[in-house]
Amino acid sequence: MRILIVEDERSIADFIERGLRSEGYSVTCVGDGEAAEAEALTGDFGLVLLDVLLPKKNGLEVLRSIRAEEPELPVILLTARGEVEQKVEGLDLGANDYMVKPFSFEELMARVRAQLRRPEQREAAGLEVGDLKLDFRTREVERGGKGVRLTTREFELLAYLMRHPNQVLSRSQILNAVWGYDYDPGTNVLEVYIGYLRRKLESAEGPVPIETVRSAGYRLVAPRG
Ligand code: CA
Repeated sequence: MRILIVEDERSIADFIERGLRSEGYSVTCVGDGEAAEAEALTGDFGLVLLDVLLPKKNGLEVLRSIRAEEPELPVILLTARGEVEQKVEGLDLGANDYMVKPFSFEELMARVRAQLRRPEQREAAGLEVGDLKLDFRTREVERGGKGVRLTTREFELLAYLMRHPNQVLSRSQILNAVWGYDYDPGTNVLEVYIGYLRRKLESAEGPVPIETVRSAGYRLVAPRG
């Protein structure tokens, strides 16, 4: 699945690009409206993330051309706070959804998944790694068949680790995904929450296999086989 990112603010484009790549999507980034229109109409993309205020050609004009030629292509608008009129006009022009900046990567992913969801490839209702089980509909978590109560943030952190078993995830990757891109880089909130998860998920089978990978990040180890 290829996603087109249209965003002229480099830091935001980088943030989205890194996040989508780590989720396994192929990504193309462009920074102005003319390039956006040319790329979007190639038919190579399954989704467009489209900033509204762009050099050369405004995002709403780009959206109009996309709708004329590719009526089914999902488009999520990226708007700045206060751009209410553009947002309304964008939805009238056929945008599928919109995000107001700043947003966290998890918020964006939820919208992206909702747009990409097809009846035949619905997102799994839950995740299972070793003796850990997580259910997105009921928000319940089990270890070795026993229920564990987690707060919303703990649940999101565990879900993120479980989506990437055996992969070393850097602190910044995890903070971006679970806390959003405006976190304080000196924060120890991640260490604190990893501690909560380890404590809550410890069971008769032993400690939960969340490894600290020194000077790299964390990794949830899945049993082989
Ligand atoms: Ca812009």
